[in-house]
Amino acid sequence: MNLTRDQEEEVIRFTQEMIRCPGYSGEERETAAVVARQMEKLGFDKVETDRWGNVIGTIYGAKPGPTIVFDGHTDVVPIHMPDLWEHEPYGGEISDGKIWGRGASDMKGGLAACLSAAAFVGRSNIAGTILVTATVAEELVIGRGLGKILEGRKVDALMTCEPTGMNRLAVAGVGRTTVEMGVQGLVAHSSQPHLGDNAVYRAMDASQRIRKMPRRQDPFFGTDVIELVEIKSRPSPGNGCVPEYCWVLWECRLFPGETRETFLNRFYTALKDFDGAEKVTLKIGRVAVDCYTGERLDYEDFLKAWVTPPEEPFRKLVEKALHQIGIQVEPVIFRGCTNASVSAGDMGIPSLIYGPGNLDLAHKPNEYVEIEELLLSVKAYGRMIELTEQYG
Ligand SMILES: [Zn+2]
Repeated sequence: MNLTRDQEEEVIRFTQEMIRCPGYSGEERETAAVVARQMEKLGFDKVETDRWGNVIGTIYGAKPGPTIVFDGHTDVVPIHMPDLWEHEPYGGEISDGKIWGRGASDMKGGLAACLSAAAFVGRSNIAGTILVTATVAEELVIGRGLGKILEGRKVDALMTCEPTGMNRLAVAGVGRTTVEMGVQGLVAHSSQPHLGDNAVYRAMDASQRIRKMPRRQDPFFGTDVIELVEIKSRPSPGNGCVPEYCWVLWECRLFPGETRETFLNRFYTALKDFDGAEKVTLKIGRVAVDCYTGERLDYEDFLKAWVTPPEEPFRKLVEKALHQIGIQVEPVIFRGCTNASVSAGDMGIPSLIYGPGNLDLAHKPNEYVEIEELLLSVKAYGRMIELTEQYG
């Protein structure tokens, strides 16, 4: 599929239009409306906005075939240091062959590209059904917005168009979870600590055990991560008191095969024979967001790792499509969690990550997407869609 000049201009214009809608997680109303309008303008067969504010566009191919999802999230992270931006963060300005602004790489560029590709490939060249999903709140509750779309639908494979650059295809993703440790003590006046039981000391000792517990090694994934990221104690302020309670948060990156139970068991094993173990509780953390529609997404903060192996039909199709248009890709692991953590990790749908932009630019000042890469990605998605006939 080659893009006409008008099509190229439309992809660029639409990317700019989305960048000009700020919208943190839970505030994607404007972006979602722009996406829905664009799907209607480009002739999608069906355009729906669901209870959570996700937009789902459907294109029915002329021939029978698989149902393939192309996905992108509509939310962006806030601007933390506006002074460091050399271009207006929500301006969508073009200079040096790049479109600048929050979300250019992560991931309004990828969303614009896959939506455009689905519309530009003629229906006579599509076997099966193409869904383009523009999902809410990925930056806060990774994949849970997408999960609402996928529940109850029969989907064969999914591409999430997060930034990998054109020469990397993410075929696997690490999992993640948070573990909350609660440690009980006994409050007393700090001048007489022997009358109390210092919960922070106990939390420190328990944390040392967890810090020293063995990490898992994997030839493909490397070493798993279990890192203490936050400590709070009660009462606070603590003047005059031996703390009665301490809360410790661990953030962890997981390998395939790890479940809530196996993972928490590693913590319990580390605390075996620990003096005061009965005063320590462990649980998986939670994530939640109030959607712009008023609905709430509230989940355990646990996402499994996933792998889409070389023989999987969608991976073969994608690799073939990229090869045919002269793009060499290296299969890689995506180190952050994405919507694929839910589609593949939770729901077992073969998933991949491929998209224009650079993950190193995500969440940082001066985010951009190269126009050449943006347009090449439209061509790449287009070729994947044209190959649906050969799926399986
Ligand atoms: Zn993203």
